[in-house]
Amino acid sequence: MDSCLFCKIIAGTIPATQVYADDDLVVIEDINPGAPVHLLAIPRKHTVNCLDLTESDDRVIGKLFRVAAGIAREKGVAESGFRVVTNTNTDAGQSVFHIHFHILGGRSLAWPPG
Ligand code: 5GP
Ligand code: ZN
Repeated sequence: MDSCLFCKIIAGTIPATQVYADDDLVVIEDINPGAPVHLLAIPRKHTVNCLDLTESDDRVIGKLFRVAAGIAREKGVAESGFRVVTNTNTDAGQSVFHIHFHILGGRSLAWPPG
């Protein structure tokens, strides 16, 4: 998708601080962190949001959670607690329409969120 910000980051045409990459996923630091640890786990395949997923995406989404847990351990927030969340459409505040999962931790996170 030529016009998609995260496709450009994945292609390397827009810079980002990458903390993990494999054939299916990249994990980058959020440019405007909302917590001491705020990363974005992004499947390489352009998918709008979770409403756009099909069965063929099941393997990558499952792997994404396992990778997110490993990174949370590496960042030292696994024991204290962290959140993996994906925003879908307007009421949830989705602003980039390429599916991504926020990995948030390093402080107490309110629930339910505002
Ligand atoms: P959403 O609002 O769609 O759930 O999350 C989009 C996230 O992308 C936001 O947390 C925002 O700070 C982050 N973001 C927006 N533009 C950029 C960018 O150019 N680089 C990086 N690394 N993150 C971005
Ligand atoms: Zn995209």
